[in-house]
Amino acid sequence: MNDIHIKRAAQRRERALSRALAAERELARQDHELAKLVAPLFPEHFRDGNPTGLTFSIYHECEASPVGVCLYDEYDDPARDSCLVCGDPEERK
Ligand SMILES: [Zn+2]
Repeated sequence: MNDIHIKRAAQRRERALSRALAAERELARQDHELAKLVAPLFPEHFRDGNPTGLTFSIYHECEASPVGVCLYDEYDDPARDSCLVCGDPEERK
């Protein structure tokens, strides 16, 4: 392995990292848009429809959930112990 191979691999990694960070920002934007629509469905958790604290599971489908995955109120339940719809925790064995 000579220097040029290392340099090219480092450049490929840099481009991959750039794409990953852009995807992460886009996911955060989409999460926020979705949260604004979903928060009013849970007025006891998100008063005035304020979506701050509403988070979506990246692991668990949730049949009765309006978005198809478990969702949590990170202010009232920072450990994500209880999905607002099904009551299941984010962390499962
Ligand atoms: Zn659930």
